[in-house]
Amino acid sequence: MGMAAAWCLASRGARVLGIDRHQLGHDRGSSHGGSRIVRQAYFERADYVPLLRRADELWREIELASLTRLVHRCGVIYGGPNGSAVLAGVKASAQAYGIALERLTVAQASSRFSALEGCLERVDEFVLEPNAGFVRPERAILAMAENAQWRGAHMRPGVRVDSWRARDGIIEVNAGGCTEVTQSLILTQGAWVGEFIAEAQSMVTNTRQVMAWVTPRTPTLCDEHSLPAFFIERESGVPIYGVPTATDQPGPLGVKIGFHGGGQPCHPDALDRTVTSEEREAFARALERAVPGAAGSVSAAAVCMYSSTPDDHFVVDRVSTQARVFSAFGMGGHGFKFAPVIGSALADLALVGRTSLPIGFLRKNRFARG
Ligand SMILES: Cc1cc2nc3c(=O)[nH]c(=O)nc-3n(C[C@H](O)[C@H](O)[C@H](O)COP(=O)(O)OP(=O)(O)OC[C@H]3O[C@@H](n4cnc5c(N)ncnc54)[C@H](O)[C@@H]3O)c2cc1C
Repeated sequence: MGMAAAWCLASRGARVLGIDRHQLGHDRGSSHGGSRIVRQAYFERADYVPLLRRADELWREIELASLTRLVHRCGVIYGGPNGSAVLAGVKASAQAYGIALERLTVAQASSRFSALEGCLERVDEFVLEPNAGFVRPERAILAMAENAQWRGAHMRPGVRVDSWRARDGIIEVNAGGCTEVTQSLILTQGAWVGEFIAEAQSMVTNTRQVMAWVTPRTPTLCDEHSLPAFFIERESGVPIYGVPTATDQPGPLGVKIGFHGGGQPCHPDALDRTVTSEEREAFARALERAVPGAAGSVSAAAVCMYSSTPDDHFVVDRVSTQARVFSAFGMGGHGFKFAPVIGSALADLALVGRTSLPIGFLRKNRFARG
C-alpha cells in the first residue's frame, strides 16, 4: 500500500520519501509469494467494486509505465454448494455492476478445465469470472518503486521508522538516526501498524498464513492457459484458493495454494516461518480433493501474515487530529489487488485532505465503541 501511495504521489509531482525497514520486494510482511488473485465480482462486499474497477485501470497504467506485465488474466473460478454465501456474493456483485460471469455445471467446468474433473468437495455449481486472474506482487512493488523513483521519489529501503510526532501541523519522523520533517505522512506498516497507531492495536489481529506450491502430476492441465485461478469452498472448513502455474516464471514452481482464513494469531516479529510436514500434507490432501488434476507433491512453502480487522474490511482514514497523517491498514487476506487504488486514495488525502474515491465504508469510526 505504501509503495502504491508513493507511486501515485510521485506521478502527481509531489515530493516523496518512501521508507521501509526491509529491502523492496522482501518476504517479511504480507506481500510476497509470487501471486495474488485479482477479481471484481466481490463476494466480500459489492461496495468494493468501484474501487476494483479503478484499481484495474491503475494496474494497466503501472504496466504501461514500467513496460512490465503484472496482471495475468487467466480468469478465476469459484466453486461451492447450493446456498453458498460466496457464490451468492459473487453473483450479486456481478449483477449490480454488470461484471461478466459464466455459470457452469460441475460437468461443464470439468470438461472445460480438466484439472477440476473428479472434484470431491460438495460443489454444486462453478462460476467463472473470465476477466479476473492474478498479479505478481514482488514485481508490482518493484515496478511502482522504479517508476516512482524515475519521477523523483526518494526511497530508503532497509531503514526502520522508529517514531513520529505531530507539532503545530508539522510532522517529524525519526528513522535510521535521522529526523525527517513533512507536512503529510502516510503510515502503511501492515502487520506492524499497531506500533505507530495506538488505536489500530485494538482493530487489527495478525495471523500466520501458509502458502504452498505443488508440482502437479499432469503439469499441462495446470498452467495459466488451461486452468483459471480458483476459490473453492470445502466441506471440512476454510476455503482453498489457488493460482495456476504461470508461464513466465523461470522455474516451474507449480500451482500455488492456500487456505483462505483460519491461521494462528501471531506477532510479526516472532512469526514461526517453519512449515511442518503436517501442514504440507494437509495442502496436498486438500488439493487432491478440490482440484484433482493439479494434485502432486508439495515442492515449496512459505509463511505470510494476514493483518485483519474484526469485520475483515480495510481501514483507510486519517489517524491524527493534530496533523495530516493517514493510513491504510487491516488489508487482511484480500488487500493486494487494491494497492493502486488505495495508494491513489491515500495520495488524495495527503495532498488535499479528501478523495472522490468511494472509501467512506472503510472509515475507522465503524469500530467506535458505544
Ligand atoms: C498468504 C496470503 C495470500 C494472500 N492472497 C491475496 C490474494 O490472492 N489477493 C489479494 O488481493 N490479497 C491477498 N492477500 C492480502 C494482501 O497480500 C495483503 O492485504 C497486502 O499485501 C497487505 O499490504 P500492506 O502494504 O498493508 O502490508 P505489507 O506488504 O506487509 O507492507 C508493510 C510494510 O511496512 C514495512 N514496515 C513495517 N514496520 C516498519 C517500520 N517500523 N519502519 C519502516 N517500514 C516498516 C514492512 O517492511 C512492509 O514492507 C494475501 C495475503 C497473504 C498473507
